[in-house]
Amino acid sequence: MFGDTIAAISTPPGRGGVAIIRLSGEGALAAAQKMFAPAGKTPVAKFSPYRMYPGEIDCGTFKDFGLCVYFRAPHSFTGEDVVEFHCHGGTGIARGVLQSAVRAGCRLAERGEYTKRAFLNGKLSLSSAEGLVDMINGESEAEVRAGYMLYAERLSGEAVRLQDQLTEILAGIDADIDFPEEDIEHTDLANVRGDLQAMAERLDALLSTYRTGKKVKEGVSVVLAGRPNTGKSSVLNALLGADKAIVSSAPGTTRDVVEGSVEINGVRFDLYDTAGIRESEEEAESIGIGRAKQLIEGADLVLFILDASAKMSEEDRAVYDAVREKQKIVVYNKTDLANAGESEVPADIRISAKTGENVPDLKRRMFEMCMQGYNADAQFLIEERHFAALSRARGEIGEAVSLCGNVPLDLLGVHLRAAWEALGEISGETESERVIDEIFAKFCVGK
Ligand code: GDP
Repeated sequence: MFGDTIAAISTPPGRGGVAIIRLSGEGALAAAQKMFAPAGKTPVAKFSPYRMYPGEIDCGTFKDFGLCVYFRAPHSFTGEDVVEFHCHGGTGIARGVLQSAVRAGCRLAERGEYTKRAFLNGKLSLSSAEGLVDMINGESEAEVRAGYMLYAERLSGEAVRLQDQLTEILAGIDADIDFPEEDIEHTDLANVRGDLQAMAERLDALLSTYRTGKKVKEGVSVVLAGRPNTGKSSVLNALLGADKAIVSSAPGTTRDVVEGSVEINGVRFDLYDTAGIRESEEEAESIGIGRAKQLIEGADLVLFILDASAKMSEEDRAVYDAVREKQKIVVYNKTDLANAGESEVPADIRISAKTGENVPDLKRRMFEMCMQGYNADAQFLIEERHFAALSRARGEIGEAVSLCGNVPLDLLGVHLRAAWEALGEISGETESERVIDEIFAKFCVGK
């Protein structure tokens, strides 16, 4: 099926120092032979693998001077013969090399096709490929780290260990079913129940990491709410450390939702400013207000901003009513001004967006509140697909634990096999072609 040789530009589009064009498949070296004139004595057909050879790359109507490297199957990213051309990083040059590869018999690669081939050739598991997507798409440090953990087969290793345990239990059960007349008990049900219980606990521990893991991937959404002029935009700027939102002393000027992101301990926090929740006839402001309510609804955390230099007003109370049920931090801002005293809503923290006082402490609290129990070095779930598969495995094992001893062994086996299959979705052993295609379509062309 994959006998054909694919080619793509593997570096991002645009100008740069170098661009890399990658060929993969049986015909990669033969194509390279047609495209490359080595500067040295070694002809392309005699290239030692994993060595860079300088020479002239034929781009049809023009040439470029660059490098050629050969990765011999199966020791390449895809597991096939791979050839890379490193040319100068210009759009026209890279396209010229690619067209030359097509003339030499390659076809253009589809999105994620290199990684898909790597997966099909057993170079990485499905979850490892997903980790690679997360790493490539990741902007925050935590996201890249989490992606790398998946890429390095941490999760699939764990799934395989659980699968092996299940296989062992199933083998015992099968032996008892097949040879019931032989007076040997292969299955000690108390032991089996104990083992399954331990597996269920491990799965529970993993599943419980998804709430935080999801935030690593999607970012923690934080909404700044408060009546106009309490300093929301200023607090946002202080958190971002840059002047992104427009600060003005006229009330209601931040009409739209302003967004900015800041990394706290490597985790991305997305900040949303609101126009303040108040009744308004003015159309533009109403739109902003509707969105503010929506945002508050979906936020992981609300920073409820009060002006420390003013008494709490009806307007403040109205906003407070809209956020009181949410996970929130009550922030008294403008501590550099005269203190108007505490209102009926006690402060969680007092800051000055103007002087920056206590802003680092606010960040620390935001992190503690939203990322409770997060350990960057421990195994945690970031992909919904993995969460779903492990939940299913957990459900089946739970069933098996409660049935253990009360039902015939083969019925127990049904649940254990279903759990095994669900775990196989992490590695890709039991995953459908549709899911596999969906995953690789998330890659860009050339990866
Ligand atoms: P928003 O309407 O809630 O977004 O409030 P802004 O951020 O636009 O701030 C309203 C006014 O309060 C502006 O004039 C800011 O300069 C001022 N302000 C904001 N934070 C502070 C602060 O910590 N101290 C002082 N003295 N003024 C502040």
